[in-house]
Amino acid sequence: MLYLDHAATTATHPDVIDEMMPFFGELYANPSSSYEFGTDAKLMLEKARIRISDSIHCEPEEIFFTSGGTEADNWALVGAAEGCRKKGKHIITSCIEHHAVLRSCEYLASRGYEITYLPVDSEGFVHAGQLEQAIRPDTILISIMYANNEIGTIQPVDQLAEIARRHGILFHTDAVQAYMHQKIDVRELSVDMLSASAHKFYGPKGVGFLYVRKGSGIAPFLHGGGQERKQRAGTENVAGIVGMGKAVSLAEKNREATQKRILEMRNYLIEAIQRDIPYSRINGSIQQRLAGNVNVSFRFLEGESLIILLDMEGIYVSAGSACSSGEKTISHVLQSIGLPEEWARGTIRITLGEENTMEEIRFFVRRLGQLVSQLREFSDEYLYNKN
Ligand SMILES: *Cc1c(COP(=O)(O)O)cnc(C)c1O
Repeated sequence: MLYLDHAATTATHPDVIDEMMPFFGELYANPSSSYEFGTDAKLMLEKARIRISDSIHCEPEEIFFTSGGTEADNWALVGAAEGCRKKGKHIITSCIEHHAVLRSCEYLASRGYEITYLPVDSEGFVHAGQLEQAIRPDTILISIMYANNEIGTIQPVDQLAEIARRHGILFHTDAVQAYMHQKIDVRELSVDMLSASAHKFYGPKGVGFLYVRKGSGIAPFLHGGGQERKQRAGTENVAGIVGMGKAVSLAEKNREATQKRILEMRNYLIEAIQRDIPYSRINGSIQQRLAGNVNVSFRFLEGESLIILLDMEGIYVSAGSACSSGEKTISHVLQSIGLPEEWARGTIRITLGEENTMEEIRFFVRRLGQLVSQLREFSDEYLYNKN
């Protein structure tokens, strides 16, 4: 098996599993219980919180555990909308956000909020000037993702967040894809909220966090017990949170070396595709791009067919985006960057991870080239173009 879909999810690291196991067994106490058995569990939760807050340089009280990236995004959007309702009902986001943000915006639109969707350029960048122009006196929130999950484009978040700060508007960023790759320091970055998800950085699924800067005034999300300082009720996913804490320390410890290695493989892959496979194009920015991401379109074939052929050989890549691969429509991200349909249809997303090797990537790109040629033999248009 060759797994090249790390933007969809990553394997839980063995050290993370080791750290989690006791909490499925003997350490089953409820962290809210006041006896020692419970307070020990509580201590482990707080240890994880500190590991996370250290990683982005905020206070532990500014980290709220959630059930993952989707919940963190929903909370940021809905919580800010409710918390700032008196100030206004206008929200700005981009048209290439993850569905966790876009669908939350649609929900809010159905509740009377007004949403502006900023366009992006052909590489997927949001422009500061356009953000500035979209701001109104009743704008309460700006939500722009740190890095895109399909094409890997890294936004100029510092610049965009600075504009929000200057206008006194809350700024949220979905950093689910960026968190493990980028060194993030919220003391320098003017973001008020930031979402992350453990299973995108070798942690377990179903757990994530939302950073909320003190004094942001967002509304609580789940109502019930007093957990998470009364903002997010419900007995905590202790094992998951402890696992996420471990995954954070692993990511922190190895970040530079891992990034360098992944980048080398990624650059090799891009260059080999450009050199060896005709009628191909890389989508997104080459410079400001997540280390492991290769989003590539091939003309004269269907991306879905390519994925099936790769799948038959145990090679796993994604069609544009995991969320849109079930649907027949072209992904909203590829549409937004203006990719013509004849290219968009032949798009696959390859995302590398720390366990991949250069040898695997060399093998992969050779096989990819062969399968692309094989599929093109079925295209009249290709045969016509070739001759
Ligand atoms: C995966 C992903 C999410 C959703 O996170 P889950 O933990 O799977 O709910 C949100 N935003 C982006 C950019 C993602 O890649």
